[in-house]
Order: sequence, then structure tokens, then C-alpha cells
Amino acid sequence: MLKTAGVLDRPAAGSVDSEPSPPTTRVTVAHGDGIGPEIMEATLRILAAAGVSLTFDEIELGEKVYRAGHSSGIEPSSWETIRRNGVLLKAPITTPQGGGFKSLNVTIRKSLNLFANVRPTKAYAPFVASPHPAMNLVIVRENEEDLYAGIEHRQTQEVTQVLKLITRPGSERIVRYAFEYARAYGRRKVTCMTKDNIMKLTDGLFHRVFREVAEQYPDIESDHQIIDIGAARIAAEPDKFDVIVTPNLYGDILSDIASHVAGSIGLAGSANIGSGVAMFEAVHGSAPDIAGQDIANPSGLLLAAVQMLVHLGESSAAETINNAWLATLESGIHPGDIYREGLSTRRVGTREFTDAVIERLGTVPRQLTPVQYRPGGIHVAPQERPVEQKQLCGIDVFLDWDEGGRDADLLGHALEAAIPTSWKLKMITNRGVKVYPDGLPETFCTDHWRCRFIPRNEGVTFGDVLDLLSALHEKQIDVIKTEHLYTFAGERGYSLGQGE
Ligand code: NAD
Repeated sequence: MLKTAGVLDRPAAGSVDSEPSPPTTRVTVAHGDGIGPEIMEATLRILAAAGVSLTFDEIELGEKVYRAGHSSGIEPSSWETIRRNGVLLKAPITTPQGGGFKSLNVTIRKSLNLFANVRPTKAYAPFVASPHPAMNLVIVRENEEDLYAGIEHRQTQEVTQVLKLITRPGSERIVRYAFEYARAYGRRKVTCMTKDNIMKLTDGLFHRVFREVAEQYPDIESDHQIIDIGAARIAAEPDKFDVIVTPNLYGDILSDIASHVAGSIGLAGSANIGSGVAMFEAVHGSAPDIAGQDIANPSGLLLAAVQMLVHLGESSAAETINNAWLATLESGIHPGDIYREGLSTRRVGTREFTDAVIERLGTVPRQLTPVQYRPGGIHVAPQERPVEQKQLCGIDVFLDWDEGGRDADLLGHALEAAIPTSWKLKMITNRGVKVYPDGLPETFCTDHWRCRFIPRNEGVTFGDVLDLLSALHEKQIDVIKTEHLYTFAGERGYSLGQGE
């Protein structure tokens, strides 16, 4: 039975009044702005008609809240409701233009540790026109790490940097989620995309974790593609992919490529999954141009609600609703955004489309493949790992140096004369390219130098590092940052310079 704690209170189909009902799962809903309230009403009506056993708590998000002076678009009291219930079904909201309003989605994602962004993108040909009729892929994007940690610095006159953070627990969680997702949604293959031919430690870790986790899912095929060729293949032959798992930045770009290639962004739902909280929403925005006209297509939010039901372990209800929706598409009864002469039989508004889905609850599509979801939802257990012995074995010292025509040999000799005898200058790189010793005259040099020092004898202490830095400081060498070089269980934990 569907229950609402707010204004949505209405009896559910098939409820038995005389029996006390068991406590139901509570879900937080936000009706949003623009077409949000219409498509949310449609979605909740279909859930109710399917006999879904949920209780809804409403919160206000979006334009009104922004205008009331909350710069993130959410009232402080709403956090507690979202946290308590653990699941948020969110209609699209309008972000007011200009004037320091923060992205609500970024705020929710970061504040609630929603580590996985899951965006299925599918074609529904021949009932909805699509350039790639067999396309049916899901992008599972890591949502919190990578370059999005937002750790950036300006270090010299010429050079800025951003820190790309890829962690083992973060990679493990997202990769495992992708495999669990594949199982829950009856998918056969998971493809990992990284650039580990270049970023051997960071993307290399993501890829390595992928290989380790893949071994634990022998029932699911797995492969890895370098992101650039992988993205090209998604654009050219998206029907070759099933589930794709990837770090944050690549996932951000791939999700948009896939949406555009599919040509059905209005039909896509997405999930943001965390360990305690998950948020489900349509991919599209609040469409203020068509708000209040009963013409919006509720499918994106409905499919997000289907993802939510699978997440909650209500896989049978998710199947019933998804199959009724597919059967409706097959019937040719289409909202205006997907209506096409020849493909569609009747153009309908939001309410009529909703009624058509409700009429088909309990039926399955005849031509489109019916969905099947595994009972039990998706659970990702944290993994324990042994601690690897960490040993300091050198230091990279970054300098701001703009003298002597930026002659690397000049800098190299000056450093060798300045440092204590216990240290050795192994190399200098500029933008990652080795320029000392034995650099090439063609290499372009900025004012930002990475100087790698290693101890002459085995073993190095923090005290040795301080001695080295003091010696450089005494010679007025402008040290702007340092990175310690470590081995972990004897394995090098840092990259070599290009040409080293
Ligand atoms: P939009 O997705 O709202 O609209 C783009 C076009 O698609 C419009 O022509 C619209 O009429 C149409 N459209 C979108 N959804 C539709 C549906 N369900 N049925 C039929 N037609 C549909 O994108 P936009 O115009 O760039 O953004 C409008 C507002 O939405 C902005 O304030 C933006 O910030 C916000 N937005 C919110 C979210 C979110 O809450 N997750 C996401 C994207 C944009």
C-alpha cells in the first residue's frame, strides 16, 4: 500500500482496510519546479496503482527555497528527512539565474556521499525513433573523487595544478556496484574505461581494482577500454556496450555523449547512490516552457522510480511498472515529445499517458524485451584489506625558478652544489618531461620544476628531508611544494618522469 505523510494522502488500490498494515518503507519526495509536480503526480499515481508499499514524506526543494534565501535550494530541516528515510525521489527543479545560487544536485551529491551516478540510456525502436535502435547501455560513474575533489593551486606565475584523487575504497565501491547492478538488472557485461596507459598509478589503480573485482563475478563478462577510443565507440556503435564503469570526469562526459546519441533524453532516469542515502530523478530539467499544460512526458521520473524500487528490493513492482510502461510505448500512445506520425497511434497528455500505463499494469510488452529484476536490491559490502608496509625512499621538490634563461643544466648544477652530501639529485622534469640530466634543447620549459632527490645510502628519515629543504632554503631556492616518494610492500608508489 502506498502512504503519504504529506498532502498526497490517498487510498491505494487493493488495500485491505480491516487489517493493521505492517510498517512500510518511507521515501522522501520533492515535487520540484516547472513540470516537476505534474510528472511526480503521474509517477506516484502509477506506483499507487501498482500496489507499491511505500510511505512518502514531502520536502520542498528548488526555486521557492532558493528565493527564500537558502543558497543551496534546500531547507536545513530537509536534510534530516532525507537522511532518516535514506531514499529521495526528486522531480527536476529550476535553478534561478545569476546571484550566487549553488547547484542543488552537487550539494546533495557531495553532502550525502552519493558515490555512484547510474544513468541507463536505451533506445525503444521501432516505437520511439532512434539513430541507434539497439542501444541499451548504463553508465555507472564514480561521483565524488578524481579531479572533482576541487583541490587546485596556482603555484607559479605560469602554472596551475589540480589534484586527481583516485582511492582504492572509492574505486572498489563503484566497481562492485557496477557488477552488482549488472546482476540485479540481468546484464551480461561490464566495461571499464580509464586512461591508465598514461595515468598508471591513479587510473591504473581503478583498472587494477576492476580486474580484481571482475574475478569475483565470473557470471558477468568484463573488459577494459582506453577512454578515448571507448568514447568514440559509444558515439559510433553504442549498441556494443552494456554496463560501463568509469571514474568521475570520464563518466560525466560519457553520460552526455550517450544521452545525445540515444536521442531520448526525455525518457532517461538516473540514480545517485550512497552508502546511507540514494537519490532518484529524471535526467531532464524542469522544462518551464511547457509547465502546467499537461503535456510533459513523465517517463524519465517514472523510470527513475523503477530504479528506486529495485534499490529498495521491490523488484517485482519495478518489473510490473517497467513492463506496463514498455507495453504503453508499444501501443503507440505517446506524449508529444516522442509522438511521430507513422510510429505513434495517439498523441496524449501527461494524465492520459499515465492512465494508459496504469491500464497496462500486469501486462508485458510483445516486441520490446520485458525487463526482469533480481529480488533483493543492490548491496555493496565494504572490503577489508591488509595494510601494506610503507617506506620513504626519496622526495620530489617543486620549485618556482625563472632564472638563467630557464637552462635546466644551470639549475641542476646549482642544486647539486646546494644539497647535503647524503642526498643525490636524480632528475629534474618540467611539465613531466625529463630535462636534467641529458635533456633535449627542444623541450619547452615553464617556471615550474620538479626535482627528484634520492638518498645516497639505504634508508631516509623525515629529518633528512628537513635537512635537504633547509639547505635549499639557505640558497634562496623557492620551494613551492614537496611530495614524498614511498614504496608500498616494496612496490613503487610514484611515477617515473617521461624519459627517466
Ligand atoms: P530541460 O530538460 O528542462 O528542457 C529542455 C527541453 O526539453 C525543453 O524544450 C523542454 O520542454 C523539453 N523537455 C524536458 N523534459 C521534458 C519532458 N519530461 N517532457 C517533454 N518535454 C521535455 O532543460 P533546460 O531548459 O536547460 O533547463 C530548465 C531548468 O531545469 C533550468 O532551471 C535548469 O537549471 C533545470 N535543470 C534541473 C535539473 C535537475 O533538477 N536535475 C537538470 C537539468 C536542468
